Amino acid sequence: MAAVRRGTLTVARAVEVAGVTIGAGHPIAVIAGPCAVESMEQFREAAHSVKEAGAVLFRGGAFKPRTSPYSFQGLGARGLEIMREVADELGIGIVTEAMAVDQVDPVARLADMIQIGARNMDNGPLLEHAARSGRPILLKRGMTATVDEVLAAVQLIQRNGGHEVVVCERGSRTFEPSTRNSLDIVAIAAFQLLHHLPIVVDPSHGTGRADLVTPMAVAGIAAGADGVLVEVHPQPEAALSDGPQSLKASEFPRFMEAVRAMSVAVGRPS
Ligand code: PEP
Ligand code: MN
Repeated sequence: MAAVRRGTLTVARAVEVAGVTIGAGHPIAVIAGPCAVESMEQFREAAHSVKEAGAVLFRGGAFKPRTSPYSFQGLGARGLEIMREVADELGIGIVTEAMAVDQVDPVARLADMIQIGARNMDNGPLLEHAARSGRPILLKRGMTATVDEVLAAVQLIQRNGGHEVVVCERGSRTFEPSTRNSLDIVAIAAFQLLHHLPIVVDPSHGTGRADLVTPMAVAGIAAGADGVLVEVHPQPEAALSDGPQSLKASEFPRFMEAVRAMSVAVGRPS
């Protein structure tokens, strides 16, 4: 993807999703939930726990991009319905991924924000379609994408009428084997400080390890992140997707305490 021309980003510095404002000095937005929606019971339990501890938006995958075709592929349209029903029960918005052009309309109908996954950051037709849906977009950085390539993807969304974009730093693929990805903390400051884009940190995919999620969430906030996208499961050991990097629901209040402490330290309102 071509390098971005400076000064051509006109997207919003703060994005509103279901009554929550992300960016421009607003409170740190914690978007939490399981990697994948597995059943009504699982999603409802996760949602109750994270809301009670202070999450302001729910995440969860209905259409799942999996590396192996033998892994759980998500509940599809039924997963979207489950998320919407639980979100309405609890009065909180939802963020979920559209992986293909034909998934954009169903996702836009039921979700409050459309996630574009790392594997699709440079999928032009998908970005264009999502931009035209009118929903805010959570754009995950591609596994090997540079900062300029992310900015070019934001420009493509902008050119198609999407002006509400939040970037997500979720780690790059590197030579380091002890973590799933290498979380690029400096990129968080670059997006936020240099390019004035709202950005959230994803310490779950950024590390692949539940024991590193809290320190990396805190580091991301220290670097200027406007929010945290984090995977939480009632029983990570039984999760159908990304269990090793998911916080146990019972551990989530402690995670929120650390997030709040760092938010105070960097002067964000609570
Ligand atoms: C996810 O958020 O569950 C996900 C699949 O993320 P990524 O696209 O960053 O791998
Ligand atoms: Mn995941």
